[in-house]
Amino acid sequence: MRYRHVQARPAARRDLPQPPRPPLPFRPPHPDVVVIGSGIVGAACAEALTRRGVRVTVLDHAPLTSGTTARGEGNLLVSDKPPGPELDLALDSSERWPRLLEELDAEGRDPGGPALAERCEYEAKGGLVVALGEPGARALAGFAAAQRAAGVTAYDLGPDEARAREPHLAPGVRAAVHYPQDAQIQPVAAATALLAAVRGRGGTLRSGVRALGVERGADGRVTALRTSAGTLPCGAVVNACGPWAGRFARAAGAPLPVQPRRGLVLVTAPLPPGTVRHKVYDADYVGAVGSGDADLRTSTVVEATRGGTVLIGSSRERTGFQERFRAVVLAELARKATALFPVLGRVPVIRAYGGFRPYTPDHLPVIGPDPRLPGLWHATGHEGAGIGLAPATGELLAQLYAGERTRIDPEPYRVGRPGLGEEARWTA
Ligand SMILES: Cc1cc2nc3c(=O)[nH]c(=O)nc-3n(C[C@H](O)[C@H](O)[C@H](O)COP(=O)(O)OP(=O)(O)OC[C@H]3O[C@@H](n4cnc5c(N)ncnc54)[C@H](O)[C@@H]3O)c2cc1C
Repeated sequence: MRYRHVQARPAARRDLPQPPRPPLPFRPPHPDVVVIGSGIVGAACAEALTRRGVRVTVLDHAPLTSGTTARGEGNLLVSDKPPGPELDLALDSSERWPRLLEELDAEGRDPGGPALAERCEYEAKGGLVVALGEPGARALAGFAAAQRAAGVTAYDLGPDEARAREPHLAPGVRAAVHYPQDAQIQPVAAATALLAAVRGRGGTLRSGVRALGVERGADGRVTALRTSAGTLPCGAVVNACGPWAGRFARAAGAPLPVQPRRGLVLVTAPLPPGTVRHKVYDADYVGAVGSGDADLRTSTVVEATRGGTVLIGSSRERTGFQERFRAVVLAELARKATALFPVLGRVPVIRAYGGFRPYTPDHLPVIGPDPRLPGLWHATGHEGAGIGLAPATGELLAQLYAGERTRIDPEPYRVGRPGLGEEARWTA
């Protein structure tokens, strides 16, 4: 005879008078925070907030992670940033990315599977910035010296040392700097991993829902988000709408000068392993040598992916949300890439794609509360570095939200800073 195992209830306990239960704190059935935007920045904010026990809903009008994040190349760079607030975020993020992936792994959601870092194609491959001419070499040396003083690890290389690291580099290379802190990640996989953690902690993810504006209480605070699927009561809203963040901010009544800045990338057919080993840039990408054209910049960033394709990016153009490509931009990308790696002139290009970077006038992201509209927060404006800067951004926003001491000074990223101009100071 088989007995069903029944959990024994301690009879004595049942009979004894129970002490009164403390009342549960009142938790209304709506999220504390709604994060608008499921890109890498919204995902990082939601991850950092849910790690602190905040109840979060992430919503996106498009499929999850399909915005600019799906168009980024996945460079996690310190090499292209001069000393200053953007470099501070980049250095913090470069430490944080691998640690975060390990921590999420340790939450044990996928035992037995490949490590999260592997699934996100995280690779600490290092960057190589290359100068082809003498003026570029001098400017690059000065740029790297300033970065070293700000805490970046950067090694000056002569032409032979550079070619030992990248055998297919052009013979005309004058100098290079090696940046071991530069790394690479697959942006959609990374954002998806962050969102999976959010869901695993009880957060809600919704696609196909457009944020339309906010509702405010008598005291002026945000009380709800108006969406295409109805009104969603909440305690706070994070505008992580990427290049569309300016539109949402205006709809919410607190305008921000975030504009789209288009970038195009060329993709080659898969090449033999080792054709390109690092993330390789020409010196003008890092700002050592100016291009002289404020509206169009094409500078070369060459990198191989896990699958063997080589990405050649990327242009920077202010053309609004214009989807059409200009062939001249692609030709310029190809010309500069083959100047660095002549071998690329002989390989097939299989496609080109583009996206819109979220651009601000002072090239710094906006991270923090909006003093014009209590309960509205922003995490946007990362332009060409949102994949790299996401973990530090999420952490800073969550620290500010939770009233914690911040590791990075939030002042340079605040909404009302002079670099954002008048638009960020008035309410619509
Ligand atoms: C060609 C190219 C190459 C790049 N390469 C790199 C790189 O190598 N390294 C790097 O760090 N960065 C790179 N970037 C930049 C990087 O991709 C961006 O900075 C980053 O993806 C921005 O992320 P985000 O979450 O702010 O925006 P997004 O990924 O665009 O996410 C915003 C989301 O908000 C949603 N949304 C907008 N409005 C609403 C609304 N009203 N309601 C609901 N949802 C809304 C959108 O659908 C979108 O999914 C590159 C960009 C481009 C274009």
